[in-house]
Amino acid sequence: MTDPAAAYEELKGAGLALDLTRGKPSSEQLDLSHALLGLPGAGEFRAAAGTDTRNYGGLQGLPELREIFAPALQVPVDQLVAWNNSSLELMHDTLVHALLSPLPGAPTRWVNAGRVAFIAPVPGYDRHYGVCERLGIDLVTVPMTADGPDMDEVERLVADDASIKGIWCVPKYSNPDGVVYSDEVVRRLAAMPTAAPDFRIMWDNAYAVHHLTAEEVEIADVLTLAAEAGNPDRPFVFGSTSKITVAGSGVSFLGCSETNLQWWLKLVSKKTIGPDKINHLRHARFLKDTSGLLAHMAAHRELIAPKFAAVERLLTEAFSGVDGVSWTTPKGGYFVSLTVPDGLASEVVRLAKEAGIVLTPAGATHPYGKDPQDAVIRLAPTLPPQDEVEKAMAGVVTCVQLALSPR
Ligand code: PLP
Repeated sequence: MTDPAAAYEELKGAGLALDLTRGKPSSEQLDLSHALLGLPGAGEFRAAAGTDTRNYGGLQGLPELREIFAPALQVPVDQLVAWNNSSLELMHDTLVHALLSPLPGAPTRWVNAGRVAFIAPVPGYDRHYGVCERLGIDLVTVPMTADGPDMDEVERLVADDASIKGIWCVPKYSNPDGVVYSDEVVRRLAAMPTAAPDFRIMWDNAYAVHHLTAEEVEIADVLTLAAEAGNPDRPFVFGSTSKITVAGSGVSFLGCSETNLQWWLKLVSKKTIGPDKINHLRHARFLKDTSGLLAHMAAHRELIAPKFAAVERLLTEAFSGVDGVSWTTPKGGYFVSLTVPDGLASEVVRLAKEAGIVLTPAGATHPYGKDPQDAVIRLAPTLPPQDEVEKAMAGVVTCVQLALSPR
């Protein structure tokens, strides 16, 4: 094996400028939706029901677009909202509404509730933590397992602490470790007794149709399971077309019980007369139906699966059988999670940066930016071209090897 220090010096000398930080679609992926930009086309503005999408109104969003996404998000069309361009905004605003106006079943609005805390399975999505940090909602971590959050721990925490008002979940191909929640985990989340009567699951199904293999993994239907368990108002389901069509100008979705929906629509009607329905129409015409959506996702898969395969290949070649180094092999989503021995993640990120390879800061996968083990590195291979992913990953391998070597 080459001397890691010499290999690293060579890497630094290569003058790289590579970036594996954020899970963004590549320009080739965005090109798949090129035709979207010409839709609905001059003179085209009537929705299927004959409504004029140019005008005000239609608070719940265009029905034909909701029909396309209802099966993928496992939400009945009537309980699904199609909204503006960001599901993160929907999540943020839904929590703001809960702070300011009592949720169905809530004894009080959350600003009057004293402490409000959410469970954050770790590792997880930094922007979920950011929303809570901004809104003064405490984060209580629980470990992720291969099947979803550690449910014994979740059930224990929520059973007698009424200040724990919710949990963040990315149930399919989770960010960052690609975990798919087992049916049993979903059932337990839907049914578990909670001290808080206004407990909510923030079900961020951001990667519902973002498969990387032919398996096209399915998960249990949280809304139905919660209703069957007598907790119909517990889940808020979120999704968006951000990584389906155009990340900056897509459509987001919110699904929930009829009671939650009426609560939400009433509050949101104070801030807008309706979402961007021309964008809804454009998306409906472009995707056509649920099978059109799935065919479009297969084209994404063709572009990005080779990048994930390169990450897997380079890590396997370098670290197969190496103690303390492991990584995920996701069946979908946007990330690979690389685990290095405790205390080394930030060192690897630092070495990579000095060699011109920007990685997500170590700690970003944990609340407050602090990974107590300093062991997890999130890799996002979708954005750079294939050859850059390979160069960047070869560089990451060199950095991990140097960090592992006795110095
Ligand atoms: N949720 C998860 C889990 C994500 O990974 C991302 C983006 O990386 C988002 C939400 C952002 O979604 P949107 O673009 O709809 O705001």
